[in-house]
Amino acid sequence: MPELSKKLLEEMNVQIQEEMFSAYLYYAIGAWFDSINLPGFAHWMRVQALEEVTHAHKFHNHIIGRRGAVEFLEIKKPPKKWESPLDACEAAFKHEQHITGRIHGLVDLATKEGDHEATYGILNWFIEEQIEEELNTDTLVQKLKMLGQDKNALYLLDKEVATRIFTPPIWLTY
Ligand code: MG
Repeated sequence: MPELSKKLLEEMNVQIQEEMFSAYLYYAIGAWFDSINLPGFAHWMRVQALEEVTHAHKFHNHIIGRRGAVEFLEIKKPPKKWESPLDACEAAFKHEQHITGRIHGLVDLATKEGDHEATYGILNWFIEEQIEEELNTDTLVQKLKMLGQDKNALYLLDKEVATRIFTPPIWLTY
């Protein structure tokens, strides 16, 4: 298999760090939701955190598969509190927009380098995935905006988001 360029390897290792920070951020938002008695949102964020670990894992596998050296960089501390459920979900949405930007940067780099494995393999998957990630978090934002200050509606939405299930991707099981 063609070797990863030094620059692309470096950026993929940074992406592992970014995805692990995403998990950290969503665990933190989840803990904050628990502290304000919204266990459904807390659960939703923890499912999201688990998904983020699989994203990091996917980059990890790609690097290993191409005989590159995985490097685990330092993960920074996420914030502890947010102003409101809307503020917390907007933070999640903004973070996903940042991640989409990172993926686009990786695609640009891989394309420039003519790295077909990265461009049409793993990064192609992430391009699709980011559409879903932005949509999921923006849907929470839009629903929270819709219900405004209605506590009954917030209570019901908390029950709805409590039903989210984490499904481990098939490649994670071997
Ligand atoms: Mg991710």
